[in-house]
Formats: sequence, structure tokens, C-alpha cells
Amino acid sequence: MSLEYEKKVREAAFLWLNEVTDYGTESISTSEINSFYFENSTFRLMNPQGGIWKPKSFKAALSIRTGFSAPNKPPKYEDSIGKDGLLYYKYMEGGPDVWGNVALRMACKTGLPLIWFYAIKTGTYLPIYPVFIIKDEPENSQVVVAISDTRSSSFYEPFPEQPIKLYSDQLVKIRLHQPVFRERVILAYKKRCAMCGLNHTELLDAAHIIPDSLEDGLAIVPNGLSLCKIHHAAFDKNIIGIKPNLEISIRADILDEKDGPMLRHGIQS
Ligand SMILES: [Zn+2]
Repeated sequence: MSLEYEKKVREAAFLWLNEVTDYGTESISTSEINSFYFENSTFRLMNPQGGIWKPKSFKAALSIRTGFSAPNKPPKYEDSIGKDGLLYYKYMEGGPDVWGNVALRMACKTGLPLIWFYAIKTGTYLPIYPVFIIKDEPENSQVVVAISDTRSSSFYEPFPEQPIKLYSDQLVKIRLHQPVFRERVILAYKKRCAMCGLNHTELLDAAHIIPDSLEDGLAIVPNGLSLCKIHHAAFDKNIIGIKPNLEISIRADILDEKDGPMLRHGIQS
């Protein structure tokens, strides 16, 4: 198959992911990933066992996958993402010339974009796309992967005219660390606000218990609370607090205020 065909599949996959994951901000299950259709038949986007996926008719790898590591430990990506904001993705076993590593090299040579499936929990992934393999390092048995910032535009452009330059630490935080933290915390709270029980993921945030500006404010599930937007803001502004015995307390002056139903039901009661 031609590279044009490989481009077309990628373009269709990215547009489909935009729809089903709200531009890569929500996670997706393995079975949902397997429901991608291209030209009237299902088309596999991810290797459920290994890390690298290349459809039979393709020359370049279509996706890479990072499996799940326990949520109470600092996530694995800390080992593989450099200070430069680049992912150092290890070769598959068997030396530089096994099919998977050849496919990574082809993605590097052709400049074709890939999807990086990052596990939120077993069988659930956050898709990060497009990512590009910008360097092959056979001497270190790895490739260097850059996350692009194209999601920031309202309309997703899979093959930008301008080379993408922004691979900063900040971008990794926005495209990887923050959405992974959010998805993991919200799933841990069964997609509800911990205070009011609101069950609308689009209105939920993952709040840090110890703020992320402090050294202990890690982006790990035990330091997270699933809160709706109003309770997140009230928590951050010290209007509402939670005691270690899980009692919720409201700031005294707020309790004395008189106002409409949001204050009464949403905060005071
Ligand atoms: Zn709430």
C-alpha cells in the first residue's frame, strides 16, 4: 500500500478519535478502540499485547502503547520522558531489525504521525495524537517521540504545513500528565463529584488535595479528588474543606450568608 493510503487511515483515525474522546481529553476502552471503521470494515489501531502496532499493509508504525502501572506509584512515564519533553520509547525485543523496530524507523523516515495509547488503567487508554518519531537511536535501542501541540487549534490539522516545534515540558504536562491524572481520579470516584455526587464527567475536575505547587502535591490518585467545577473552586478557595474523618465543613461567614439556591443547596447544605 502507498504512503498516501497510510496518511488517509491516520487522518480518519484522528478525526474519529476527536469525536469519541473529545479531542483526546477523555479515555477510551480497548473494545471502543476496536470499533474504528475505515472503508467499511473494522480497522485495528492498537496492538493489545505488544507496544508497537503496524497493520499488515503498512510500512510505518501506526501506534505505540504504554501499559498500566499501579496508580499509587509515580507513573512510569517519569522514567521515559526527558526534561526536554520528549518521550524515549524503547525498541521491542529482538534487535533493531525486527518488524516493530523497522516500523518505528519507517515512521521516522516518512514523518507520518502516530497515536500513543497511554493506559489509564488496564484496558482503558488516553490517546495522545499526533505524535511524531523524530529520531531513531539504535545505539540506545530506542526512538525519540515528540508530542505535537496541534490539539490546541479548534480544527485538528493532521499534517501541518509548518513543522511542529513545541515539545516543551509544559506541553507534556498539558497533553499527558494532566489528562492522565484527571481520567484516573474521576474513574476512581466512579465518575461522580465526591461532595455532591454529580454524575457528569464533562462537569468534573480532578482536584489536587495537596496543591501541585507544593513538593508533595503529586499527580497521583491518592492525592486526587473528583469534584464538580463549583466544588473544585470552592475547595481551592477554602470555602469548603474536608476533614480527615471525611466530614465536609463550610467556612463560617459563608454559612451566615443569604442567597439563592446555588448557595443554599450547592454549598451551605
Ligand atoms: Zn459537586
